[in-house]
Amino acid sequence: MSDARYWKAALKAEEFLAGRTTPASLPIDPFEIARELAIEVQAKPATASGVSGMLARHGDVFGILYATHIASEGYRRFSVAHELGHYLLPGHMDHVLPNGQGIHESRAGFVSPDPFEMEADHFAAGLLMPARLVSKALTRMGDGLGAVEQLSDLCKTSLTASAIRYAERTTTSVAVVVSTGQLVDYCFMSKSLREFDGLDWLRKKERLPAGCQTQRFNSQPANVENAERADAETDLRDWFGGSRKLPGIEEVIGLGSYGKTLTILTTEIEQDDEDEDEDLEESWTPRFRR
Ligand SMILES: [Zn+2]
Repeated sequence: MSDARYWKAALKAEEFLAGRTTPASLPIDPFEIARELAIEVQAKPATASGVSGMLARHGDVFGILYATHIASEGYRRFSVAHELGHYLLPGHMDHVLPNGQGIHESRAGFVSPDPFEMEADHFAAGLLMPARLVSKALTRMGDGLGAVEQLSDLCKTSLTASAIRYAERTTTSVAVVVSTGQLVDYCFMSKSLREFDGLDWLRKKERLPAGCQTQRFNSQPANVENAERADAETDLRDWFGGSRKLPGIEEVIGLGSYGKTLTILTTEIEQDDEDEDEDLEESWTPRFRR
C-alpha cells in the first residue's frame, strides 16, 4: 500500500490544495472544488452493484455522479474526491475514458485492486485529509479509536478512511484492521509499528486471531449492524507474530450497513524500550564500580 505511486497520488492532491487561492482548512469540501473546476456534481442511482460514483465526459463538459445508495456523508465526499482524482491525476483521463468521452464507473474506498482506482483513493485521502493539517490535528487528539473518531468529525470523512489516514500519520504504534465475519479484509500498520522486528502483515482473507475481541464481536452480526463497540486488552504478537510481547488495547466498532468491523490496535510499547533499559544498566554500572 505504501507504494511510491500511491504516495505520489496523495501528494498530487496536496499540491492541488496548495495551488488554490484560499489556504486549506478542515474540512475540505470536494463539492466546492468540483464547482471551481466547472464540473457538475449530481446524485444518480448506480447502474452496477459496488459502483460508488462516475466520471462523465461529453466533449469538454465534465460531470461527477455519486451513487444515491450511499447514505454516509463521509463516503459521498470521498467518492466525489475519488472522481476529482481521475480528473486531476496525470494519465487518468486517457485510461478511464480512453475514447475521450463516455462514463467511467468507480469503486472507491480501497476495495478495488485496480491501480488507477487505488491511486484515485489515495488522491481522495490526501485531498480530504492533507498530511500537514492531519498531523497538526493529531497532536491534540490522543490515540486509538478516539483519535480516529475526532479526525472523522474534523475532516467529515468515514471512520475507515480516517482510520487509514490516522495509521499513516500517527507516531504511535497502531494497526487498523477491517474485517467481515471471521476474515480480515485489509490491515494498515503505522510506521513505528512496522519497525518492530519480525512482524508479519495480516493478509486479505486471513482469519482473525483465535479468541480475540473482534472475533467474538463479529460472531454476533447484530453488533456490526447496530454499530456497537467493545474493547479488550490484547497482545499485538497474537496478531502479527514477532519476537516480543506487545501488550496493547483492541478497540472494536461495527460499521453498520457497511457490514464490516473496524478494529484499532494500539500499543504504548516503544521500539527502543528494551535498548533503553540496557543503556540504563550500562550507565549505572560504572558508578557502582567506583
Ligand atoms: Zn475510479
